[in-house]
Parts: sequence; structure tokens; C-alpha cells
Amino acid sequence: MAALLNKPMLLFLSFAASLFLCCHFSEAALPRFHHPLKTDGSLSFLVVGDWGRKGLFNQSKVASQMGIIGEKLDIDFVISTGDNFYEDGLMGINDYAFYDSFSNIYTAPSLQKTWYSVLGNHDYRGDVEAQMSPILREKDKRWVCMRSFILNADIVEFFFVDTTPFVDKYFTDPGDNVYDWKGVLPRNNYLSNLLNDVDLALKSSSAIWKIVVGHHTIKSAGQHGITEELVVNLLPILQANNVDVYMNGHDHCLEHISCSKSKIEFLTSGGGSKAWRGNVKEWNPEEMKFYYDGQGFMSVQLDEAKANFVYYDVFGEVLHQFMVSKEFHSTS
Ligand SMILES: [Zn+2]
Repeated sequence: MAALLNKPMLLFLSFAASLFLCCHFSEAALPRFHHPLKTDGSLSFLVVGDWGRKGLFNQSKVASQMGIIGEKLDIDFVISTGDNFYEDGLMGINDYAFYDSFSNIYTAPSLQKTWYSVLGNHDYRGDVEAQMSPILREKDKRWVCMRSFILNADIVEFFFVDTTPFVDKYFTDPGDNVYDWKGVLPRNNYLSNLLNDVDLALKSSSAIWKIVVGHHTIKSAGQHGITEELVVNLLPILQANNVDVYMNGHDHCLEHISCSKSKIEFLTSGGGSKAWRGNVKEWNPEEMKFYYDGQGFMSVQLDEAKANFVYYDVFGEVLHQFMVSKEFHSTS
């Protein structure tokens, strides 16, 4: 075959191949955002998940407490851990649920900041591309939702990971649910590219803090419990890259697990509306630092030396808090 190709043709083919690889690589890299720190070098934000129920199941009450705490902490943005719109995501870009469950619910002045959001399994039951569409951002400029992306805030880097496609049963046993897998198939390629991208991004990060956000649990004693597929595929990457925190929703509770085998703190903030009272599995009490089976949300304040995590209930009462410090070695 090679004998049939002349030299200019070979040069052209190798140019085309390198162009393809280059484009392919840049396509594969995760989208990046930057958020500036406050002038004192700190950052504060709220974390809420599993919320979009048109104000019902105490969504509005959680929203109003988020507004109060958000003002007190002068938050820079909000993180949504997914399952943004129940039961079946958004039907399209004109679905009024976007207003009923988001714009007209989180109305407090302090919450008029960017919402960095991942998708949950319920979002995948609707029109995924609509939920990620920039047209929604025109309707409400706070809304940023993508499958996987990176948010750099100088001292901290957030790695938002699309966890729904990892879960086997949504593919093998979907029941009556129809999932929108456009852009995800072939699944194995999607997952291996994603894991590779997350690993590369973590490896090249020079941020002091590394926080990974996904919808599904890695460690949880809630109704859904552990997501085995993430334990097998994602957790080793987080451990190998010194991730400080993994944050998720999916289990409708507030939870803090510290694992004896790694330094990662596993935080569930999935109490944005409907909670699952009394639905908790047994867990090693040494690791289970906090579990609350009601509604609420979480705040995080961090600077380069320490990060403070606080969990609140639907009345804004503090349920649990803890601090993580970074050890600094003098360079002088
Ligand atoms: Zn979920």
C-alpha cells in the first residue's frame, strides 16, 4: 500500500493525522472555568443537591435558609450536586420547570451568583442537552451545567465529574425510565476518556485544595449506599492524586464520612428537597462522622491554610461542622 503513495501524499496524510490527534485531544480536554478569590484570599460557597421539586418537600424552606447563610458568608457561588429537576429532568429548553424549580425558588440576593451544576440520574431522564444549553443561561445567567468540567479558583480546583453513565443498572435494568444517552454512547469510550481526562487534570493541578464533585455516592450509608462502579473506577484516581474532598448528592441526606484508608473526606449534600427519614444503613462508627436524614445544605469556607465545612438543617441550624488544615512547610 505504502508503495502506492507518493511523498507529498504521505506528508499530507501525516499532517492530517497530527491535526486529527490535536483536535481530538483538545476536544477531549475538560472545559475550564475560573472564579476569582475574595480580596482576602478566601472563598466561600454553598453545596446543595437533589432539589428541583417546584418548591415542594421543603425545597423553598431550604432555599430561604440558603439565602440567609449565603448572605452571612458572602458566598462566591453555589455548587449543585445534581438531580436538579425532578422527576425526569427538563423536557426541553422551554420547560417552565426551570423557573418553577430554580429561578423562582432561589430568589435571595445572596444566591444571585453562579450555580455550577452537575447532572444526576433524574436529569438524564429528560433532555440532557437542553439542561446544558447556553440558552438557559440567557434565561437565568446564574446557570452553568455541564457533564464534566473544571473550576479553577487559584487555591482550589474543582473537578466536576459526570457520574450517571458509570452506573450499570441505568443501562441494564432501566425499568420504565428512559435515559437520554445522546453524547454518552459508546459508553466504554465515554467512560475511559472521562477517567483519563480527570486523571490528567488532577495530575496537572497545582492547586492547594482538590475537590471532586459528582452526583453519585462513593461512600454513603443512605438508601442508595455505595456506588460500586465509582469505587472501582473513580476512587483509585482520587486516591492517587491526593484529592481532599469528594462531594455528592443522590442520597437524600446530609453526611460526612472519613475513611481510615485515605485522607479523602466524603461529603453528601443531597437534602435540597425530599428527604428519606430513617433510611440509613449500618456503617463503621469510626468513619461515620455525621448523618442526618432530613433536608438541608452545606457551606464551605476556605483559604490556603484551612477549609471549614458546615451542615445546616431546614431551619438554618448548624448540625455538624469540621475543619481540615493544610500543613505548610517553610521554604526559607
Ligand atoms: Zn440521584
